Amino acid sequence: MRDLTEQILELIRVTSTSLPPDVEAALRRSVEQEEPGSAARGAMETIIKNIELSRQKSTPICQDTGTPIFYVYYPTGWSTLKLREQIRSALAEATKRSYMRPNAVDAVYDKNSGNNLGGEDFPYIHFEEVEGDELTIELMLKGGGCENVGAQYSLPDNRLGAGRDLAGVRKVVLDAVQKAQGQGCAPGILGVAIGGDRGSSYYASKKVLYDKIGERNSDPKLAELEERLTAEANEMGIGPMGFGGKTTVIDTKITGMHRLPASYFVSVSYMCWAYRRRKMTVKGDEVSYE
Ligand code: SF4
Repeated sequence: MRDLTEQILELIRVTSTSLPPDVEAALRRSVEQEEPGSAARGAMETIIKNIELSRQKSTPICQDTGTPIFYVYYPTGWSTLKLREQIRSALAEATKRSYMRPNAVDAVYDKNSGNNLGGEDFPYIHFEEVEGDELTIELMLKGGGCENVGAQYSLPDNRLGAGRDLAGVRKVVLDAVQKAQGQGCAPGILGVAIGGDRGSSYYASKKVLYDKIGERNSDPKLAELEERLTAEANEMGIGPMGFGGKTTVIDTKITGMHRLPASYFVSVSYMCWAYRRRKMTVKGDEVSYE
């Protein structure tokens, strides 16, 4: 099996230092929405400068290089053991080269491993076998500040008057945005999962964040709710980094799941403006990045 350590190292470098085109385009559109001379506009302009500089200098977009979350879609015959080893070596090297800050802290002994490698749980690597002959590795770097403002609700929620339906989902998602204020480094992107159990629901709310900005759910009901939530969140006046203004959320992505009759969970994963996610595809000898 081919050794992809160098190519994975490049995936990590690109993800940490260069935001994907769809995210950058959405952020640039947001600058124009804010009043010239306002604090919100200033915050958006600083964000854009930051994006340009970090790409030019190949330095991390944010000092918190986040939790590395890998999704590997591998054709039959590839060894997941070897791929895991290669991902871990590439991540340790990326840390040495300062593309990544050492972010893996043992929660029991409060000790930083220094190289972004924890036990089996850091980095997070999900493997899925797929048909065909293409290997794809997707990487998301999820910041800690925005992770802290993620939320999970068990419906019905009497305090919010949220029942077990899409109207209830709308209420709790807007509650999560209200509570986050600017602390998740707005403007944010909302990943929402409806259903599942507590674990699978949070997991799905993050997975949906791998979809591109503007991609709508194929279910028209959910697509409509995605657009409505983005518009309503932007009417809250929280704005970039909490400075007020029109850009609180640049997109909302929802996924529907099955649930037990007894439970109705809604999980909200909040992604900050440093929406770092990239993909590498291997086909034969060719490796491409997007
Ligand atoms: S939430 Fe995002 S932008 Fe804010 S400090 Fe963390 S990684 Fe950086």
